[in-house]
Amino acid sequence: MSILIKNVILNGKRRDILIEGNKIEKIGKSLNLRADEKIDGKEQKAVLPGLINCHGHSAMTLFRGYADDLPLKEWLEKKIWPLEAKLNREDVYWGTKLACLEMIKTGTTCFNDMYWSEEASVEAAEEMGIRAKIGLVVLDFLPMGKRENIEKYWNIFKRKKFKTVTFSIAPHSIYTVSKESLVWAKNFAKKNNLLLHIHLSETEKEVKDCQKKYRLRPVEYLNKIGFLNQDCILAHSIWLSEKEIKILTQRRCNVVYNPCSNMKLASGIFPYKKIRKAGINICLGTDGPASNNNLDLFEEMKFGALLQKVKEKDPTVASASEIFEIATKNGAKALRINAGEIRVGKLADLILIDLNQVCLIPGHNLISDIVYSCSGTCVSDVIVNGKVLMRDRKVKGEGKIKREIAIRAKGYA
Ligand SMILES: [Zn+2]
Repeated sequence: MSILIKNVILNGKRRDILIEGNKIEKIGKSLNLRADEKIDGKEQKAVLPGLINCHGHSAMTLFRGYADDLPLKEWLEKKIWPLEAKLNREDVYWGTKLACLEMIKTGTTCFNDMYWSEEASVEAAEEMGIRAKIGLVVLDFLPMGKRENIEKYWNIFKRKKFKTVTFSIAPHSIYTVSKESLVWAKNFAKKNNLLLHIHLSETEKEVKDCQKKYRLRPVEYLNKIGFLNQDCILAHSIWLSEKEIKILTQRRCNVVYNPCSNMKLASGIFPYKKIRKAGINICLGTDGPASNNNLDLFEEMKFGALLQKVKEKDPTVASASEIFEIATKNGAKALRINAGEIRVGKLADLILIDLNQVCLIPGHNLISDIVYSCSGTCVSDVIVNGKVLMRDRKVKGEGKIKREIAIRAKGYA
């Protein structure tokens, strides 16, 4: 299978791109080659690497707008958890399909997920064709989050061949997973060459509780039990001391900035400047749609940049090019995928931008417009793993997903 993309703007110049299989095979001025499929940008479309969402809970699209503007504890205990208890496997499947649809329509080509009924998420992502790293969730208080269950799942998954799905081990957090289970998860990940995905230091309360229990801050505690290494993807990482930042640098961990969720739940402000200065790999994530409330990484880039500027009282902090890089290249590095850039040999995970959209006029600087001016609706076409998932804003199966969700929402809410 090959795709020839003609007359698109790449780094300010008109270019053609040939995709062979799932990789970018050639980039040139005028490629007159045969291909199974052709897309002509007519110099009215720009090409960019697809965005990478490094932390989320896809199926929570089902709870979008259900319970907003509440304190975190009340939101979780009175609203979200009772609703989650009513969900079945099919709900998770359709909720994840809706998330995939929204991500494709807003230019995300890969996401890092943490939600139970993992086999339903796997099925949804594979069907939609989007790249996904599905976390096998470790949670001590739920039968499905126990070690035996994860081993059972992994034994099934590792024998199957997936097109775009790979896996991680996802212990939920230090306050829902015991020390023994965290150590087990770390060893299991190492043995099976999997990444580790965990929530860390999201709230001030988490830090205080950890200090009370272990006389250590969360990063110090994870370091002590030998959990931290370059396989770790640490979501939130807001409440960090200088010492903790130093540990994360030494252990070469990846951290995920989730600005919208952090602001909406009033969790705190990610210490972007300090973490960047320390040389830690920063990625971008939306978190779940119940605390965001959308999965549009364009919005996340803008909020992410603005929040840091106001925090530091410095407009030069978190520039558009820096933020675009954390949403693409850095995410690819953390998730260990050969993507995040438009270059020969890279995976064909790319998006086309409709340059006729008002938010892109007059077009002084594409990356500035992408970060500060546009929403994800400026994306016209999406290709993942060498396959077209959206053409002129049309995604296969969109109507059915919307209808199915409307019916299901009546059943659980
Ligand atoms: Zn989360």
